[in-house]
Amino acid sequence: MKDDGLYTKLLQRGVSRRDFMKFCATMAAALALPSLEVAAIAKALGKGRKPFVVWLEFQDCAGNTESLLRASNPTTAEILLDLISLEYHETLMAPAGKQAVLSRENVVKMQKGKYLVVVEGAIPMKDDGVYCCIGGRTAKDIAREVCGNAAMTIAIGSCASWGGLPAAAPNPTGAVSVQKAVPGIPVVNLPGCPVNTENLTATLVHYLTYGTIPELDSSRRPLFAYGKNIHDLCERRVHFDEGRFVRAWGDDAHRKGWCLYRMGCKGPASYSNCPTIKFNMNTSWPVQAGHGCIACTTEGHWDSMSPFYTKLPNVPGAGMGLTVKKVGAGLAAITAAGFAAHGIRRVVKAKKEKNKSG
Ligand code: SF4
Repeated sequence: MKDDGLYTKLLQRGVSRRDFMKFCATMAAALALPSLEVAAIAKALGKGRKPFVVWLEFQDCAGNTESLLRASNPTTAEILLDLISLEYHETLMAPAGKQAVLSRENVVKMQKGKYLVVVEGAIPMKDDGVYCCIGGRTAKDIAREVCGNAAMTIAIGSCASWGGLPAAAPNPTGAVSVQKAVPGIPVVNLPGCPVNTENLTATLVHYLTYGTIPELDSSRRPLFAYGKNIHDLCERRVHFDEGRFVRAWGDDAHRKGWCLYRMGCKGPASYSNCPTIKFNMNTSWPVQAGHGCIACTTEGHWDSMSPFYTKLPNVPGAGMGLTVKKVGAGLAAITAAGFAAHGIRRVVKAKKEKNKSG
């Protein structure tokens, strides 16, 4: 493989060809692409085409940046940082003050329409956006300028995707998502609290390989990452179907790894690949570690999915051996406003169409 870009750089830093190909295979698998596409990914990444990236942080806890810095498999963060030219990131960059602002302004001016933006955090709109200012400018103004001139914006984490915790009731600062603060721009939402860096990397790899963003659902989330129901992928699902539930933290059932539905798990109403790609070097995810899913990839989950330790109302199927499709349809019928998940909508629509034709 002729390579004058990423691959050469990785070799120089001790990442072997085997690790590089393993990375490409992992990305193909994450994107649900056939294995034939591994070579296409390797070829595209080897070209060394590095898009300029501006990473903005607004009303956030920097949790997604932390997630990036702790990524692995084998060195996701390293490879990610070599895939792109990260020109501006307040937490990671060396320059500060006016020099930092100049870096950002230069990208907007010199790379207009070609660079990518990653936004972390919500954007306050109340009182003309005064509740989040950087270098004397509001987050709203910066986002409109930087995202408005970019080729693509990735809203990373639940705050940038939906407004997240800052937008939870009573939303004192009028916090909104990137999509609402800067309407009409091409946005990919990667919700999660925090996001799994492999989903960010796979989105960028797709863009670098094919020049397009991955297929999205109606909430602008990539289907490869958010197209499946957590409950359907969960390793505790067999216990749900058989009626084996944890009834108190630390009880015998909890120690045995039984289903967390009665402890408030929101997996039946959530869509994400958490159970398959996991976190921390693919070792675990919240439900595996013994805590219920809090539906952090669902829009407005702080309001619609709380209290987090109260079980979802009237989920049919617990202990009855029903399929997840029936569980999803039941939820949608009972709590449609709170569970506006695309997969559930699809199931309900499919059932209605079947009823009409039948
Ligand atoms: Fe897993 Fe939660 Fe579903 Fe139980 S309710 S099977 S713990 S996702």
